[in-house]
Amino acid sequence: MDAHDKTTWTIEPVCFGEFPILEQSAFTYMRGFGEKFSAPSIGFVLRSKLGTVLLDTGPGSQSGDLGLHSPYTQTREQEIAPALGAIGVEADELEWVVLSHLHYDHSSNLDLFPNATFIVQAAEVREAVDPIRPQRGIYEFGYEGLVPPWMSVTSRLRLVRGDTRLFPGLDLLLLPGHTPGTQGVLVRTEAGPYIIAVDLISVLDNWGAGGPDDWVSPGIHVDLRECERSFERIRATGATVLASHDWRTFDQPKYPAR
Ligand SMILES: [Zn+2]
Repeated sequence: MDAHDKTTWTIEPVCFGEFPILEQSAFTYMRGFGEKFSAPSIGFVLRSKLGTVLLDTGPGSQSGDLGLHSPYTQTREQEIAPALGAIGVEADELEWVVLSHLHYDHSSNLDLFPNATFIVQAAEVREAVDPIRPQRGIYEFGYEGLVPPWMSVTSRLRLVRGDTRLFPGLDLLLLPGHTPGTQGVLVRTEAGPYIIAVDLISVLDNWGAGGPDDWVSPGIHVDLRECERSFERIRATGATVLASHDWRTFDQPKYPAR
């Protein structure tokens, strides 16, 4: 690869639906008990002259009446293929899909991407087949009649181990804490770096002002020390943070703004 490559990317958040009622303390550890809020499910389309990459594929509905998940609503326009099509991305032609982690709400609907390679951390695949008990539901692991969504595409998984340069200007960062194998994406843009740290920073409240006294770990986590280390890493990048379940991510249709 050309060491002098200066490729820059754009980021477009796409709304795949809405969780109308979520518990605040599940997103900000030990804060906001009993407070409810609504949040979007977001896929991120990353584009440059080198290609198009999708980060995360939204929740599925296979769990039916098991009651595993928070209520979820989706309009016709928010269905994955139409939502991507509205910004000129054909799901069945996409070649690169990054799965930030394997929680069901980030890794379902994979059959919509028949030509894609799915990039996921090996540590996350291991966790997904041996999750800690409180996260079994969110991985859809261990329930009669349920198969974790990623299991139907194992031949097209590309396992990565640790930080990985996917393309020039597009780096995958291993950011454990929410899960052991959560990966964020550090994106070089014309306006400087952006980072999507997915569910480590689901809502901007997790990040606060970006200092150690402001960080609030996600309420759903496997390791709070790892969360802290991952926050440190994010701060060290100096990148602008975009949240994965926060309506404010749609303040702009594209980052950076034209
Ligand atoms: Zn998650």
